Amino acid sequence: MIVVLKPRCSQQAIERLTRRIEELGMKPHVIVGVERTVIAATGPEREGLEAEFEADGEVERVMPILAPYKIASRETRRDPTVIEVGSLKVGGGHIGVIAGPCSVEGEESLIEIARLVKQAGATALRGGAFKPRTSPYAFQGMKERGLEILSAARAATGLAIVTEVMTPHHVELVARHADVLQIGARNMQNYHLLQAVGETRKPVLLKRGPSATIEEFLLAAEYVLDQGNQQVILCERGIRTFETHTRFTLPLATVPYLKEKTHLPVVVDPSHGTGLASLVPSMSAAAVACGADGLIIEVHQNPAKAMSDGAQTLSVPQFAATLETCRKIAGALGKTLS
Ligand code: PEP
Ligand code: MN
Repeated sequence: MIVVLKPRCSQQAIERLTRRIEELGMKPHVIVGVERTVIAATGPEREGLEAEFEADGEVERVMPILAPYKIASRETRRDPTVIEVGSLKVGGGHIGVIAGPCSVEGEESLIEIARLVKQAGATALRGGAFKPRTSPYAFQGMKERGLEILSAARAATGLAIVTEVMTPHHVELVARHADVLQIGARNMQNYHLLQAVGETRKPVLLKRGPSATIEEFLLAAEYVLDQGNQQVILCERGIRTFETHTRFTLPLATVPYLKEKTHLPVVVDPSHGTGLASLVPSMSAAAVACGADGLIIEVHQNPAKAMSDGAQTLSVPQFAATLETCRKIAGALGKTLS
């Protein structure tokens, strides 16, 4: 249920109500909005609770949350969630641009590409240190050394770092280097991992599983939110269909649909979504046009030589040109893109 407090409610009221929610065996989530504070109570509900909370002098009204995903739902929070971490700002009219290679390949090359993408307009650097690869024989990433290199690239450029964490055992290690913890598509329903990143206070970039419905996607986000971490960025990265011309099928209607259902920001990954570099500029533009709050794009100095995902990776000039188009579209929508 959602407990909506009266405007300018007291801190004591928030404490009193959260304590009572805990006594009832539920979890309180205090959500401070522009006009009002609400407390979302998740967990098993009992009859008669609404009346009890409505009797409190500082409560305006109590409502059930109809959506299966409670904290992620627009019913719980009307204002968009804006996530700001270092150089990256996503949501509320700010389009974040996360760019960089699929994998961290070395210190010199990562710092070089970081400088180049920053110059072109990127606001965060991506790069996998722990790589989820379909084949166990493919390059698995530079692991801990890759994380150190990402930290060095942040020190050199000031760009926020987005990198994947694949297992709960690595959350602490990855969180020491990353500004945003990426949950890969293959791990979208790894509930222990979702809970582990939910226990941190680092923003989480949650990629949609290639076979996940939107409801499953939002319920995965709910696992993170329910641990008290309110900073979740959703990422549409393409789903599996009968189509084989593209690596995945990138369903952009997901973006406006999610914006109706949730306050969480939505970014699009046109690189994995298409698997083909030639399609990435158009799909980036389309993503911005349909309301995406950000893009995550694979970029490399020499895509043909990339250690992973070269076929879907943009060169620096292609990336710069893509952002120029996206910037114009963002401007037409009254949004900012670096
Ligand atoms: C990635 O962004 O590096 C990645 C592996 O993507 P996904 O999890 O969407 O396949
Ligand atoms: Mn990749």
